[in-house]
Amino acid sequence: MNLDELYQEVILDHYKHPRGAGLREPYEGESHQVNPTCGDEITLRVHVDGDTIGDVSYDNVGCSISKASASVMYELVNGATVDDALARLAEFTELMNSKGQAEGDEETLEDAVAFAGVSKYPMRVKCALLGWMAFKDALVRASTPGRTEA
Ligand code: ZN
Repeated sequence: MNLDELYQEVILDHYKHPRGAGLREPYEGESHQVNPTCGDEITLRVHVDGDTIGDVSYDNVGCSISKASASVMYELVNGATVDDALARLAEFTELMNSKGQAEGDEETLEDAVAFAGVSKYPMRVKCALLGWMAFKDALVRASTPGRTEA
């Protein structure tokens, strides 16, 4: 099995068995994001507990890339400190903007390195980043009281 096949397996596994899926309470920030070019949609909630991401819950529809990416994101940010979660968001965004030139650091990105090959396809990059964008937006709303219903 070569690396591409291995990565396909990782993505397929997250797609078939999404980690942390479903909307839960409590939460302080919620975000709904749509990727019209593919038809992907996600509603994501963030529960911040002190300086830690207490929970990330989500409900999504769409392609295998967008759904698998949300599952991988859950694993990377749930239970992490807010600073670490934002660092992983930045690192994954950088990987997705690498146009196939970066491999990603498995130490910090774990299963998310499986999306390295996706960065070659601009249309798919939007799919892979959708969940992360929802997380970023929900986190901003969580730290800005009163914006949750916006
Ligand atoms: Zn998609």
